[in-house]
Amino acid sequence: MDSDFLDLVEEDPAKKKFTGIKFCPDCNNMLYPREDKEHQRLMYTCRNCDHSEQAESPCIYINKLMHEIDELTQIVADVVNDPTLPKTYDHVCPNCDLKEAVFFQAQSRRAEEEMKLYYVCTNRECNHRWTD
Ligand SMILES: [Zn+2]
Ligand SMILES: [Zn+2]
Repeated sequence: MDSDFLDLVEEDPAKKKFTGIKFCPDCNNMLYPREDKEHQRLMYTCRNCDHSEQAESPCIYINKLMHEIDELTQIVADVVNDPTLPKTYDHVCPNCDLKEAVFFQAQSRRAEEEMKLYYVCTNRECNHRWTD
């Protein structure tokens, strides 16, 4: 995972070799990607005016995917010590086979829509994180 690459893309669109960032031709504000679920395509919409266009590039999907993986790697091992988090005993850790993990719902908006759960192994020597 190269997170520097992500930062570069997000903070300095001028340097991009990347077509993920677009600007509104009407008002010059940044366009935000939005999934058109009905037609299963990716749209760019302006939050300032009503401009909306179809994305030609699938690159933004790669970007979203990278964010998702990033979220998984950013889960701190400490969450296993959080008494407010629920535990599950029927999800086997893919790394050490322990049947005890804490779990919680993803924070990202897209993942929430999918009701995605993240699991963290409670074995201190393992602390494996995964999602299903
Ligand atoms: Zn606009
Ligand atoms: Zn484990």
